[in-house]
Amino acid sequence: KLRSEESMRRKLHNTIQELKGNIRVFCRVRPLLGEEKAAASLLPLSFPDCEDQNEVELMQSSENALGKSTSKTFPFKFDRVFAPDSSQNMVFDEVSQLIQSALDGYPVCIFAYGQTGSGKTHTMQGPDAISASGMDEEILGIIPRAVKQIYENTSKLTERGWEYSLEGQFLEIYNETLQDLLAPSGRSTQASDKQAGDKQSKLDIYQDNEGHTRVKNLTMVKVDSAERVHWLLARAAENRTVAATNCNERSSRSHSVFTLYLRGKNTLTGESSTGVLNLIDLAGSERLSNSGSSGDRLKETQAINKSLACLGDVIAALAKGSRHIPYRNSKLTHLLQESLGAGNSKTLMFVCVNPSPGSTQESLCSLQFATKVNSCQIGTARRQAA
Ligand code: ADP
Ligand code: MG
Repeated sequence: KLRSEESMRRKLHNTIQELKGNIRVFCRVRPLLGEEKAAASLLPLSFPDCEDQNEVELMQSSENALGKSTSKTFPFKFDRVFAPDSSQNMVFDEVSQLIQSALDGYPVCIFAYGQTGSGKTHTMQGPDAISASGMDEEILGIIPRAVKQIYENTSKLTERGWEYSLEGQFLEIYNETLQDLLAPSGRSTQASDKQAGDKQSKLDIYQDNEGHTRVKNLTMVKVDSAERVHWLLARAAENRTVAATNCNERSSRSHSVFTLYLRGKNTLTGESSTGVLNLIDLAGSERLSNSGSSGDRLKETQAINKSLACLGDVIAALAKGSRHIPYRNSKLTHLLQESLGAGNSKTLMFVCVNPSPGSTQESLCSLQFATKVNSCQIGTARRQAA
């Protein structure tokens, strides 16, 4: 009886999830901050009053050759649009079902895309973990909330015979090089040190015996309590600081990927499940023109542009049901290959937007990228072809 109740619950939950599609895009517009408030008069973004709360309009003003100002309006529609007054609670309410899917054994990816300063880290993580102790819970982002939800649910599932083990990894991809953010402090810098040539600390993506994508030499941490995640975020923050002279600058130019492996076994029924939850804070999407930058800066710019474009290409190729999916064109897609490509995988992309007039052009680019992603449905093409 237990078995059938549990599998019914899972089936129902996942039927609902399928109906919603396996690629979803949410738009989140952050509020104006501090000085921006005084500086901004007419905001480029507006939110049509619709029941589904899924529309946003961007108005772009420009001057024509005769000095006359003209404006153009671009309407966008996503699965959900969060206006600036949306709380972390409201956002997580819409995410928690996907977290449940990971617990049910599905591969899940949640991305935050957008220009630097648009609210990606705020959405994924919340404020710095170090200052998070004793702070208002409302301010916490998706990572700590997801872990908390998983703990609450796994303890409920214990009564039904499920035992779960949770393991986490946290890495950063900078200039197409992997960095371990959970390495004991200080060690992570070695991985990128070309001169060190230390095989022990070199992080390489490989396929294990069962065909799973893994990273060699990466620290895996047992996430054995909801509180553990604060420790983990703090260590990651510390490692970032060690690796960079300017931490913010650095984090805006790298992707950070937090991965949680959820392995469940039911001691009563013998069932088992393996879910993976990837929470990805992408590098800033701002168009960095190649002209003018040189050396390290140019290399960074090219690496970011290339890997973000590659992410779009992979999603589009999956949606088209292409036979060749260009995972290997970037470290990010190579790393996420399994989670992105599995027929039952679920992907959510947050497109984060800064509402300031000065960011209109970047906002337009972000919203257009997100629209492309939104038009994709991975697996549908394959299922229809089958
Ligand atoms: P990104 O990671 O995209 O560069 P951040 O998440 O660091 O951007 O956000 C930039 C600034 O805006 C930070 O000071 C952050 O606290 C603030 N911020 C972002 N989103 C919100 C929000 N929804 N509400 C209040 N402040 C926000
Ligand atoms: Mg950030």
